[in-house]
Amino acid sequence: MEELYHFIDGKRVKGTSGRFADVMNPATGEVRARVPLASVEEMAAAVASAAEAQVAWGATNPQRRARVMMKFGALINEYMDELAELVSREHGKTLPDGRGDVQRGLEVVEVCMGGPSLLKGEFTDDGGPGIDLYSMRQPLGVVAGITPFNFPAMIPLWKMAPALTCGNAMILKPSERCPSTALRLAELLQEAGLPDGVLQIVNGDKEAVDAILDDETIQAVGFVGSTPIAQYIYGRAANNGKRAQCFGGAKNHMIIMPDADLDKAADALVGAGFGAAGERCMAISVAVPVGKETADGLRDRLVPRIEKLKVGPYTANEDVDYGPVITAASKARIEGLIDSGVDQGAELVVDGRGFSLQGYENGFFVGPSYFDNVTPDMEIYKEEIFGPVLSQVRTETYEEALKLTMDNPYGNGTAIFTADGDTARDFAHRVNVGMVGINFPIPVPLSYHTFGGWKKSAFGDLNQYGPDAFRFYTKTKTVTARWFSGIKEGGEFNFKAMD
Ligand code: NAD
Repeated sequence: MEELYHFIDGKRVKGTSGRFADVMNPATGEVRARVPLASVEEMAAAVASAAEAQVAWGATNPQRRARVMMKFGALINEYMDELAELVSREHGKTLPDGRGDVQRGLEVVEVCMGGPSLLKGEFTDDGGPGIDLYSMRQPLGVVAGITPFNFPAMIPLWKMAPALTCGNAMILKPSERCPSTALRLAELLQEAGLPDGVLQIVNGDKEAVDAILDDETIQAVGFVGSTPIAQYIYGRAANNGKRAQCFGGAKNHMIIMPDADLDKAADALVGAGFGAAGERCMAISVAVPVGKETADGLRDRLVPRIEKLKVGPYTANEDVDYGPVITAASKARIEGLIDSGVDQGAELVVDGRGFSLQGYENGFFVGPSYFDNVTPDMEIYKEEIFGPVLSQVRTETYEEALKLTMDNPYGNGTAIFTADGDTARDFAHRVNVGMVGINFPIPVPLSYHTFGGWKKSAFGDLNQYGPDAFRFYTKTKTVTARWFSGIKEGGEFNFKAMD
């Protein structure tokens, strides 16, 4: 069986803790590799050499650092298929979706190619008599990224590209369930010219995370994962004086107004609800039709579309809509939540439980499920299911649908489908959610904007990627400067007679 490694000081390094986690192929249920779990000592050693490497990297001019991103972007394109395959093999998503995972990370690398313009400081000429002020953006030093399983390429790239472009060294701890893509990306960065030690991939679990949080050298932590862990990491990092931005889970609502094109809304819901087996923080998991006619019409359109979905392994990529979920435990949890929905009185219109695929009986596949008449007190509404389950909550009015969305503790993404610009505008203006789609189900902003949720979907300050990332990964130093009269006024240049 393949034994994975850490990537430290530009080399593949075997783990020494003696602890490992299994990396699965979720389509077959087989263990495909084991990944070492770093000890506190291994983490400390990786941080120490990152700190040494950061000094020269931070002093490298921004344009040269950006050139590394240019080469890195070219290499990601060159190895796109290999990277997408790595994503799909460990995560289970289809190959086109694996490519999308790499692509949305690459787009952040592309913004970093123009990083110097985002690193420019500010200048005030003559703020007082003969006094100028200027501010600089300087790297923090060593920073850390801790990432989830569901985007093995995109989210590590969201972390590493801006952090490195800003002149920091980074410790990246990828999800122990899908570590191979980050390891490969680190090799590509080395090939692109990143000096050894500036990016250290340290694999691990809670022990490695806690070592990051308590390490005195690490200045900032960027986390993406579930809400309880995001809140824990934010608290412990902040308590240790670190800058922290921690992005958490979601329960994204899509409102369907009576004037919406119901075929388009149904198409959007099927893609946004079941794509990647629902394992996206921007997945739509709650459909909120307004009015009985809308709800019935939507249901009539959703059922045949959901029943037609093809579930299978990424290797059968020609005809598969989504793959397995990440672990056997995740499959059991999702099916348990579906049971709870039935027990609590929701109407299970399409039942995805007990799904089995010939030749892949041990894979972690879950068929698509669709509930109607869900109410906010039910577990399936309250929990982030993170699986291929769509819940429909019926409402009578726009205000009721808006209130439902706003009362939900999560605030990552939301969408409204309507033909009325005034309703859409009102929704975008009033809703307390970080990313809003108008006739657009998964409104992940482009890489030159920023990504971040509100409420329990994010803890800390500033969003991911775009200009906010350049603020998060740098600190501002402001200089107030005055020059006393010198040679200009006091110097004597004329050839004078000696009196
Ligand atoms: P997770 O919280 O289980 O793990 C995320 C990271 O935290 C991993 O690197 C893991 O090793 C580490 N971790 C896990 N348990 C820990 C503990 N007890 N102490 C310290 N570290 C720990 O999340 P996941 O299952 O990998 O990812 C799915 C979750 O991520 C979902 O909730 C999803 O909504 C969320 N997510 C959010 C965003 C966003 O931008 N808001 C994006 C993608 C995923």
